[in-house]
Amino acid sequence: MFSYRHAFHAGNHADVLKHTMVIAMMRHLTQKDAALVAVDTHAGAGLYRLDGDYAGTSGESADGVVKLFAALKPTKPSDVAIKDVAPILQDYLDTIAGFNTGVQLKIYPGSPFIIQRLLREEARDKLKLFELHPTDIKALAGNIAQLKAGRQVAVAREDGFEGLKGFIPPPSRRAFVLIDPSYEIKSDYAKVSTCIQDSLKRFATGTYAVWYPIIPRPEAHDLPRRLKTLATQAGKPWLHATLNIGQAEERNVPGEPERGQGLTASGMFVVNPPHTLKAALALALPQLVQVLGRGRGQGQTLESGG
Ligand code: SAM
Repeated sequence: MFSYRHAFHAGNHADVLKHTMVIAMMRHLTQKDAALVAVDTHAGAGLYRLDGDYAGTSGESADGVVKLFAALKPTKPSDVAIKDVAPILQDYLDTIAGFNTGVQLKIYPGSPFIIQRLLREEARDKLKLFELHPTDIKALAGNIAQLKAGRQVAVAREDGFEGLKGFIPPPSRRAFVLIDPSYEIKSDYAKVSTCIQDSLKRFATGTYAVWYPIIPRPEAHDLPRRLKTLATQAGKPWLHATLNIGQAEERNVPGEPERGQGLTASGMFVVNPPHTLKAALALALPQLVQVLGRGRGQGQTLESGG
């Protein structure tokens, strides 16, 4: 369970999809006056160095945020690959750039830092973070302490699936929950379903966002189907977006075994999504495929219901 380290994957295509959607949802949810409680059940370390040892080992950000910046936020504005960058992608790029001082991307913020940046002090928004990995919880606590955010942000070394139960429904009855496990153990898929089922019973109007990998594993394939059923049974609207960057043909030599391409696709399933999210993604997802697509299998899907 403890071998997964998000630092290896920080800024990859899955983070691009997940964090673009998190920013878009947080922007919407922070428009109303009442306080918002955000819960990140699987927080990670919070901040990552893109030039550090972990990120450098697999270089996954090269096929994610680094590629996106080169195409859509190049040093010369005339080199922008797409004329009308989708507003939520632009917001993602600007938010990530806000954590970096120079033109080169050195820091990648994880979901805790992205969410915290969008909280409003005056509305008394709060952020609850859960993390279990002994090294990541230390890094997370240290990184969060530097923010001097006081009681706005709470960090707990606890199981996020269990810890969430203590915070919903929040007194303001407004919550955004990100459920982003590493799915290293098969039981995570069932735990996500149970968590959504239980959460909808406790607090049916919260916004719940689940990230999952698209891999040839029955549990991964079944998860969005189960979540659709749970949302529909609860009578709640849902949205499901996927991004597949495809296989890079040039990395394989004919006659030799295919080289590992890492994760090529992932999805986000949202229960009670902001009503603006689908139209915003309909503009952003094709642009993500255009810029990040590597070849065979690339594509995106977007569906909603309820
Ligand atoms: N949400 C982060 C982001 O977007 O920047 C990335 C999180 S990473 C995919 C998943 C994290 O969950 C890992 O750091 C792992 O140590 C942690 N983890 C695994 N099981 C957990 C559990 N039951 N409760 C809380 N954290 C857990």
